[in-house]
Amino acid sequence: MTHEVVLIPGDGIGPEITRAAQRVVAAAGVDISWHEVQAGAGVIDQYGAPLPDHVIDAIRTYGVALKGPITTPVGSGFRSVNVALRHAFNLYACVRPCASMPGDGSRYDNVDLVIIRENSEDLYAGIEFDADSVGAGAIADTVKKQTGKELGPQTAISIKPISRAASERIVRYAFEYARANGRKKVTAVHKANIMKCTDGLYLHVARDVAAEYPDIAFEDKIVDAACMGLVMHPEDFDVLVLPNLYGDIVSDLSAGLIGGLGMAPGANIGDGCAIFEATHGSAPDIAGQDVANPTAEILSACMLLDHLGETTAAARIRAAVRVTLSSGASVTQDVRRALTGSYDGAVGTTQFTDEVIDALSRMVV
Ligand code: NAD
Repeated sequence: MTHEVVLIPGDGIGPEITRAAQRVVAAAGVDISWHEVQAGAGVIDQYGAPLPDHVIDAIRTYGVALKGPITTPVGSGFRSVNVALRHAFNLYACVRPCASMPGDGSRYDNVDLVIIRENSEDLYAGIEFDADSVGAGAIADTVKKQTGKELGPQTAISIKPISRAASERIVRYAFEYARANGRKKVTAVHKANIMKCTDGLYLHVARDVAAEYPDIAFEDKIVDAACMGLVMHPEDFDVLVLPNLYGDIVSDLSAGLIGGLGMAPGANIGDGCAIFEATHGSAPDIAGQDVANPTAEILSACMLLDHLGETTAAARIRAAVRVTLSSGASVTQDVRRALTGSYDGAVGTTQFTDEVIDALSRMVV
């Protein structure tokens, strides 16, 4: 059977790592017809926008995509194409498994957790403005009422919407994920001691939903304490469910527990649509040098294969990645540095991918 999948190579290291993932998927014998479309700063001149309509149309048509990272200008410029895609298709659940692999170069060998990040609201809603623009409006009045302070000039405001509906949807997703994947515990992460209204609502909803799943243990942790706990005892965690911004930050922290961003895959899931992409960004510092670690994107492609029902191919690829990493002989510079303190002896993106494909040819699961 031929699967129809949209491919967005992205920019920075995106084209290098998506190419690696495509090669590995092809070597696993899965027949995919890739519909390649481009998005990001590089297409603005041609199409007038970083996320052209035909990209949206392609994803709507096929319902599934493999994506490379796309650069977002810092502090100004267009809004994130990555966030816009999640909003366009209501991809409310970001699923990011973090599991140790032998030879990943991490300080830990016992990490096996899954981040479930709410993708649709929170400070990522992008509702921001200068206080000057609201003047004596309702927000300024509320600030005065709650804090006794006037909003001064040169004050910027960001709004953090947290809804009962989106909180319930993501916490329920986390519990259903735990059940479906043999997981034992869900940890809801929040800052409800300080943000009593927004994170308070999220926590109340999490507790209510947890009561419907007596077979899965539940706990909640304040985000700062959760970060310390993850670094000290990652084995204490199983499934974590977090509002958008904490989910973003804790995802990168957790990637650091398993060898770094080059190792951490992910998926953005909605009802009827899914986009698979690594946790990391476009890594402009190493783009175009054939040094990026493609593991995160290859493992994201494995999540895509599971989604398509190609579970045997996904398992074979994961096994081939494990074998390649555990040999320690052919690893990219990020892992090499973590293992030895130096880049010396590292292989490039292409050679690492060749080694995975070679291991795949011997892999029966
Ligand atoms: P980044 O994740 O791109 O890079 C952080 C560090 O990790 C860098 O040192 C980089 O070299 C390293 N790194 C990342 N991926 C790697 C890989 N596969 N192999 C080896 N090393 C790797 O984060 P950043 O530098 O903060 O962001 C760069 C750009 O990416 C920004 O414009 C940001 O907005 C964007 N971004 C996009 C996405 C996405 O497309 N989903 C996600 C995060 C960031």
